[in-house]
Amino acid sequence: MLCREAAKRAVFALGQEVFIERVERRGPWLYAVSYVRSETRRDVCYQVVLKIKLGTRYFVGRCECPDFKFRGGPCKHLVRAKVALRQYLKLAKRSS
Ligand SMILES: [Zn+2]
Repeated sequence: MLCREAAKRAVFALGQEVFIERVERRGPWLYAVSYVRSETRRDVCYQVVLKIKLGTRYFVGRCECPDFKFRGGPCKHLVRAKVALRQYLKLAKRSS
């Protein structure tokens, strides 16, 4: 997706790098869809889907970047999305 589209839909942005589109609670899981800017194609954002088990540090995620597809493991976009999500949850807690 183009980052400017992701920015329009975002409920939370971390700088101009990470855009969180939605966060939902699904049973014991927190489910979050984010878009993280590519380092090489700066107008493009990769979709990152994260599932975090509530009350634990356990998480699973996937990213649509070539690096993740090739290695099948966590890439830097996934890490960035996780950092942004943590910030977002902190703010949400403060305002409720
Ligand atoms: Zn990635």
